Amino acid sequence: MSQIVSHAAKEAHGISRRTFLAAALALPFAALGQANCGAPTPRDGEGPFYKPGAPRRASLLEPGAKGEKLVLAGVVYSAQCRPVANALLDFWHADESGDYDNAGFRYRGHQMTDAQGRYRLETILPARYPGRPRHIHVKVQAPGRRALTTQLYFPGDAPAVLQPLMVKIERRDGALHAEFDFVVEI
Ligand code: FE
Repeated sequence: MSQIVSHAAKEAHGISRRTFLAAALALPFAALGQANCGAPTPRDGEGPFYKPGAPRRASLLEPGAKGEKLVLAGVVYSAQCRPVANALLDFWHADESGDYDNAGFRYRGHQMTDAQGRYRLETILPARYPGRPRHIHVKVQAPGRRALTTQLYFPGDAPAVLQPLMVKIERRDGALHAEFDFVVEI
């Protein structure tokens, strides 16, 4: 009995390893996020400040912005760990004073993932506002699917319970570089 189980386990391991190697060879960038996929990205509140119709743009940087520059990048995966091309990401966040632009579209913008499921957003680190840790709102929508509404948080700023929604972050080349991979059910 135990031999059967052990054999089956070896088979499963062999298959997943081959799959991983194939993915790693085909998609070197996406393979970095393999360990993260599987568990769907949790939903989180939309909050009162979402506004449809934000322009399509990968940079939300404003001339003369006082906030620290932030580059947020990652991959949108399916629960089967496949990169999702043409997923829509609609971002919105508070400015350097903790205010949202509800009249216009400052710090609001959407973009689509590329063929490897990648996205990259240039913006500033949003300020905290009363009662909330620092966060970036986002809606992620795979083609033809319902949008996942959630928020991204920053290590050391948000409570540990929000760990599944925390970016990895480092400071280099004069900017903060944050990384977050989404996992959506498709
Ligand atoms: Fe908010």
